[in-house]
Amino acid sequence: MQRAIMTVKDPLADEVLSSEVKYKGSFLQVIRDEVRTPDGVISCREYLRHPGAAAIIPMFDDGRVILEKQYRHPLRKTFLEIPAGKLDPRESPLNCAKRELIEETGYEASKWKLLGRFNNAIGYSDEEITVFLARDLKKVGQHLDPGEVLELVEMPWTELVSKSLNGEIRDVKTIVAAMWLAHEMAD
Ligand SMILES: [Mg+2]
Repeated sequence: MQRAIMTVKDPLADEVLSSEVKYKGSFLQVIRDEVRTPDGVISCREYLRHPGAAAIIPMFDDGRVILEKQYRHPLRKTFLEIPAGKLDPRESPLNCAKRELIEETGYEASKWKLLGRFNNAIGYSDEEITVFLARDLKKVGQHLDPGEVLELVEMPWTELVSKSLNGEIRDVKTIVAAMWLAHEMAD
């Protein structure tokens, strides 16, 4: 018996009537779409189109992890976070993670495990972040981009988890990664 291929329409989806790039930056685009909602209302949706990113928890054999302190301009504040970076065009999340780990921390990892993927700003961006656990670290030397200023911080993985729970860590990718890591380490 032949099975019909059907695409099921999401009953909650908006119908896009028109779409416009309002701003095209070096990696972000601001989009404004005119839509018709399922109940027939004409409305607009403004959002950021993002290339996606990969984030890494680099972990030594003794359970220490490498974090970064980095100044984040939108909030005018320095944050403690795990290494991460934007995907280059057509780059896979794993290749991006491998590249960013070396660039930002100076370590190469031979064991990689996918911890998960999440969308960090569903109300106003299509950004997706893929998180990996990187182990079996070997020092090869950091090479930061000009203007990329960060400070490396090492701590036991349990401290990453406790700082993510007590509010000291506010960066969402780091908090999610810490929760997934705690689950991973409990296995
Ligand atoms: Mg980065």
